[in-house]
Amino acid sequence: MLFIDLDNFKNLNDTLGHDMGDLLLQQVAERLNSHVRAQDTLARLGGDEFVLMLEGLNLKPEQAVRQIEKVGNKIVAALASPYNLKGRSHTSTASIGIALFPAEYDKVDEVLKRADMAMYEAKAAGRNGMRFFDPRMQAEVSARASLESDLRQSLGQRDFILHYQPQVDAQGQLIGAEALVRWQHPTRGLVPPGEFIPLAESTGLILPLGRLILHIACQQLVAWAAHPQLAQLTLAVNVSARQFHHPDFVEDVFATLAESGANPQRLELELTESQLVEDVEVLIGKMSQLKARGVHLALDDFGAGYSSLNYLKRLPLDQLKIDQSFVRDLLEQPSDAAIVRTILALGANLNLAVTAEGVETQEQYDALQDMGCRRFQGYLFAKPGPAQNLEHWPLATTLAG
Ligand code: C2E
Ligand code: MG
Ligand code: MG
Repeated sequence: MLFIDLDNFKNLNDTLGHDMGDLLLQQVAERLNSHVRAQDTLARLGGDEFVLMLEGLNLKPEQAVRQIEKVGNKIVAALASPYNLKGRSHTSTASIGIALFPAEYDKVDEVLKRADMAMYEAKAAGRNGMRFFDPRMQAEVSARASLESDLRQSLGQRDFILHYQPQVDAQGQLIGAEALVRWQHPTRGLVPPGEFIPLAESTGLILPLGRLILHIACQQLVAWAAHPQLAQLTLAVNVSARQFHHPDFVEDVFATLAESGANPQRLELELTESQLVEDVEVLIGKMSQLKARGVHLALDDFGAGYSSLNYLKRLPLDQLKIDQSFVRDLLEQPSDAAIVRTILALGANLNLAVTAEGVETQEQYDALQDMGCRRFQGYLFAKPGPAQNLEHWPLATTLAG
């Protein structure tokens, strides 16, 4: 239940009169109505108070909180954009209090009271925002909001670095590396991507972040080009769905390559299966453009999603990366070993290179070689680390091929 109360509504009534107040209420109601789905209920309780009841939310509270947060943010933004009251531009905002209750709950008054209390919290916190009644839910939402603002600030200061993880062949020779982003957080130290990439994706910050990552990676390629042992390495860069689907993505990649002077043939972009679901024709078009410039394309975490084999044969890919989960249980789980064999056979038949990711033990390395795998990445060879680590390869490792 969302309890929505306009901020400083009384001022409008007092200064411009009740006619204007009524007009604003009508427009607020229209804006609210446009954010309501068929199964939801919207009501005006009286004065400047509205109530919105969202139904059919996810049963997991943390998922439901995200759904509500999304709707709440939209409503806050929608109600804060200027109104036209008889030709006069007027600004107004609203505060929202939120309380969750189960479907069978019959204490309506209690729910309303909670939502109302949360609404006052939203007012106290500076208005033009929302608050959850449940302190844990509020804590979760606040933590996400502060992570987002930290992320925005860090982007401006370019507080991100890339770590590089070697990829080796059957002899243990270095053939390439994967770039993995780390956030240099002002107080938390190095933050791994799993903790901020999803937020960057949902907020759209992945677009500027992705450009920054590609830029750093291309500069690294240029540095390696001058280095006899490293000049032939391919550098793999992860690209998230939202980035790849952006209409300017291909142009951006070409611009970054041109600015940096990096050799496109040394760049590999890693896509994931989830990216392949929509718009196959557009996808193939983009991939072909990249491919025509010499950029390599890999499918990351292969086997973990739902790839259509029919698409797979049409995509201009160079390589499949076997999902870590299959490599991890390769020796214990015959079904995982069977999947690895199948992916290797698929790669051979479709003329795609296959890399095994997450190789941690010599036994896994040996078993993968016996199955015909020729490219490897994992802690056995090296953990991701600063670029300098690669310059000392293979001196830094005791691994024999
Ligand atoms: P990924 O692309 O599948 O990257 C491999 C992940 O597995 C990395 O985690 C790496 O550190 C870890 N790893 C490598 N070898 C082993 C091993 O032997 N054992 C185990 N248990 N793990 C191993 P990391 O760096 O935390 O990255 C996690 C994910 O975050 C990546 O998965 C990728 O999906 C995403 N990511 C990382 N960097 C970027 C980036 O620059 N852009 C985007 N869009 N996503 C990124
Ligand atoms: Mg990857
Ligand atoms: Mg992977």
